[in-house]
Amino acid sequence: MELLSIIVPCYNEEKTVEIFFEELQKTLVSVNCEVLFINDGSQDNTQEKIRKLADSNPNVKYISFSRNFGKESAIYAGLIISTGSLVGLIDADLQHPPSLLLEMIEAIHEGYDVAAAKRVSKKGEPVINKLGSRFFYRLFNSISSVKLVAGATDYRVMTRQVTDAVIRMNEYNRFSKGLFQWVGFETKWIEYENIQRVAGESTWSVGDLIRYSIKAIIAFTTLPLSLSIILGFIISALAFIYLLFIIVKYLLYSDPVQGFATTICAILFLGGMQMILIGILGKYLENTYNETKNRPIFIIKETNIDDKRLDKV
Ligand code: UDP
Ligand code: MG
Repeated sequence: MELLSIIVPCYNEEKTVEIFFEELQKTLVSVNCEVLFINDGSQDNTQEKIRKLADSNPNVKYISFSRNFGKESAIYAGLIISTGSLVGLIDADLQHPPSLLLEMIEAIHEGYDVAAAKRVSKKGEPVINKLGSRFFYRLFNSISSVKLVAGATDYRVMTRQVTDAVIRMNEYNRFSKGLFQWVGFETKWIEYENIQRVAGESTWSVGDLIRYSIKAIIAFTTLPLSLSIILGFIISALAFIYLLFIIVKYLLYSDPVQGFATTICAILFLGGMQMILIGILGKYLENTYNETKNRPIFIIKETNIDDKRLDKV
């Protein structure tokens, strides 16, 4: 019988894990599954709650990180330790309705490689998040060859083949939405309405979202690096035209060459532009630097998984 491994990243979810697990179990009564809780360095009682669930349910496995490594690292850890022929990803806060899992499994049986959830509304989210996210998708898709689907979430079920493909991308700077698109395969999108989390709080601030967007762009396109070449050509061309203009003006009218204000403006404008471009270069260098250090993507502190499986880590 096929096994479904469900990966649940948890960060400070003491209020939600139990409600979540109950709901999940109700939905999956007839599915052969293992639930992999990845405790991403929670500072609350999440670990105890997970341990309790594992004690009374043999199909509950967990690993607990030594600190908070981020959701992307938690997803990666889950993928590595999963053993099922189907692998699912779901949030612990019930914002991803478990009932969709059945639809997703069905889609895979129909022949799709991936079945993923897509939010059709952002009801209840702050306006700034909605506008920001629309701007991000437009920008990303216009400059990257990997196209993102607006509203796409991490909530999905994949075949073993797709999971193994994603695992092969062991980069440090992980942007899962992009990685899932990058590997290709045929995806069925299942639409659902946005739901508020049952309890607890989202840990994402506007600043986090901006940083995440920049990381995503750097991980998936190098076009910003070409910006200085394009701008360099444009500005040089403009400067050349202006030079001709001044020469002609001098020859025809013998106007004295003047313009303190123009000079200052030009210097400041070009100085600012150069700093921005060096900054962009710096961001890519930072990324390369982090990748070359080749540090582990996560570190395990505690687990109930037997050693053989962890050999892969
Ligand atoms: N999460 C995580 N590590 C983090 C932040 C979040 O594992 O550093 C988990 C969190 O417990 C939840 C999921 O990722 O299961 C989504 O997080 P959240 O609900 O805060 O994000 P949002 O739904 O607002 O995108
Ligand atoms: Mg959430």
